[in-house]
Amino acid sequence: MVVEDNAGDRWYLSELLRARGYDVVSCESGERAWEVFQEESHPLILMDLLLPGMDGVELCRRIRSQPDGATPLILAVTGTAEPDALAAILEAGADDYIHKPVAPKLFNVRIAIAERRIRDQGERAGTKARLDSMTWELEQLFRNLPDVVFSVDITEGRLIQISPSAAHMFGKSVEELLADREVWKRYLLPPRGNEDPWSALARERPGEAVVAEYALPTKEGTAGWVRTGLTVDTDPSTGHVRADGFVMDVTQEHLARQALGERNRELAALYRVSELTLTSKDPDEVYREILDEVGRVMDMPIVLLEHLDRVRDRLTITAALGAEMPEGIPMDVPLHQTPSGAAIQTGRPAIIPNLDSRTDLSHPFLVELKPRAWASFPLAAAGAVAGTLTLVDRVPREMDERWVHLGMSLATTIAAFMERLDADDALRESEARHRALAAQLQQANQELESFAYSVSHDLRAPLRTMQGFAHALLQNFGEQLPADAQDYARRIIASGRQSERLITDLLAYSRLSFEKLDMKPVELKAVFQQAMEQVQADIEQSQASVHIPAQLPTVLGNQTALVQVVANLLSNAMKFVPPERTPEVTVRVEGLGTEMVRLWVEDNGIGIPEGQEERIFRVFERLSEGGDRPGTGIGLAIVRRGMQRVGGTCGVERRPGQGSAFWIEALGERRRTRRPWTRRGPTD
Ligand code: ADP
Repeated sequence: MVVEDNAGDRWYLSELLRARGYDVVSCESGERAWEVFQEESHPLILMDLLLPGMDGVELCRRIRSQPDGATPLILAVTGTAEPDALAAILEAGADDYIHKPVAPKLFNVRIAIAERRIRDQGERAGTKARLDSMTWELEQLFRNLPDVVFSVDITEGRLIQISPSAAHMFGKSVEELLADREVWKRYLLPPRGNEDPWSALARERPGEAVVAEYALPTKEGTAGWVRTGLTVDTDPSTGHVRADGFVMDVTQEHLARQALGERNRELAALYRVSELTLTSKDPDEVYREILDEVGRVMDMPIVLLEHLDRVRDRLTITAALGAEMPEGIPMDVPLHQTPSGAAIQTGRPAIIPNLDSRTDLSHPFLVELKPRAWASFPLAAAGAVAGTLTLVDRVPREMDERWVHLGMSLATTIAAFMERLDADDALRESEARHRALAAQLQQANQELESFAYSVSHDLRAPLRTMQGFAHALLQNFGEQLPADAQDYARRIIASGRQSERLITDLLAYSRLSFEKLDMKPVELKAVFQQAMEQVQADIEQSQASVHIPAQLPTVLGNQTALVQVVANLLSNAMKFVPPERTPEVTVRVEGLGTEMVRLWVEDNGIGIPEGQEERIFRVFERLSEGGDRPGTGIGLAIVRRGMQRVGGTCGVERRPGQGSAFWIEALGERRRTRRPWTRRGPTD
């Protein structure tokens, strides 16, 4: 801009500037120039000192009084005799001056200098703007950073600055922190063991960085745990030693790490407990070690194992840690007198963090124990609560959900262990019982055997003597005896015969029971032949007809036993027939060629009353329907025992109105030759 009232000078100056490549605006007065200047800025203003109206000094003062924005370079153009006015305009802010008349060479030099100054000024302005923006950004950061940033002047022992986030993190305002050295030291300086953190910091060498994580003395803000890093250095401007650092809130991180650590410890404890339950150590030792482990991981001084006595409704303390009792204190507590009772009754943990309000704990054991916090976990084995795992503290305490969960897991493991021990005990007991029973049985067998022998040897001989003398009495003195005496002698002989039959049958039965029987193929034909010989007298006496099939199979068994069985069945079939009827006995075979062979012995006798089918096979059982037919009640017992001994069975079917059908079942002979690994062997 050229401001000149003289039109010739105005044109000349404008031309000189244009020659240097400028766009030029020229004004003839100060007022006009001020108007133009306010509309747009101009980097370079050439202004005449003396102008009509607003002169150069005033114009210069106005331009310079603008608050900010463009700061043009102002060159005053003066006549030679205006030293006061020149001084005034330079004071008002003009940068330089040129004398009139203007010599082009000098003008160009002056303009070149002005241009350089404009350039410099521009650069400075750019640098300042960049600096301002950086400062602003840093301030923003300082104000909004979640972490705390701080600077400490160690030489003066003064907190220079701290970011506003400190208020949030520490719960202390920036002013409070800046004001009290003892306060900020507590928050900002990492603890150094026993040493005073301030002296430790003062000893730090410049350039050294310190990073530490620590718990804050109190938790008034968001942070309980912080990580602080600081660097000690010498401030070049003041020469003071200073520390600049940051503080991060690591409470969440710390809690997460802590929780993880705890979880790991708990899992390890659970693992150790279940491992303990699998060892083959003495159970008492295992219980002791388990209680130790439980007390440690649950952090409780007293651990009890209580066993439920269902009959007396009491809990007996079977193992205890940290609960030493003086002599004479009963170690069992009625359910309604202990907090554990609830766990037994509900099957769920009974958790009582503070027992202070319980006034009903008067049992001597509890009085001595002095519990203030109680946690009982039911021990459920085989679906029923068998006792509790109980944790006791002598001060009230928190018991959070996780803690309770861990307690339940431990209780489950212990209950499984108890169940295993019980099962082991039961097994051992039942084994012992079986052994005792077997021994008793053997003893009884031996006694019975020796009894049978004594019957045979000791009873038979005097019986025979008695019978012999009775016979002799009749034969030698029969004539001289009165009829009564003869009758008595005959009765002695008859009774003797009955006794002998009984002894013979009993001996047969006991021999069949205890004698070793060889099992081999037996031809039933031969069995029937022998049996028929034995009952021949009965057949003749009763005129009975006995039908036996021509074809009889071979079975697997023992000939002697089978002959006794068949003879008894045939004898009964002829015996239990009404006197007016001739006995008809039919033998039938069922299941020829199969694994089991069934033989039927059917008669036309008096039959078996309903409901007596099982009873008649027992020793000495005789039915009243049989009347006074001779017998001992041992025949069918021999049948049953004989069939049992050869691996078979027996039974009877009632045929009301016709008679009875007794049957026996024996192993078919094919069984022996059957080869399980061939479907169709050569013998099939
Ligand atoms: P005993 O023949 O010596 O009496 P058993 O043990 O052979 O003893 O038989 C027991 C009882 O079973 C007989 O007393 C009789 O009452 C009944 N009984 C056995 N066989 C027959 C039969 N074939 N018909 C009817 N009753 C029978």
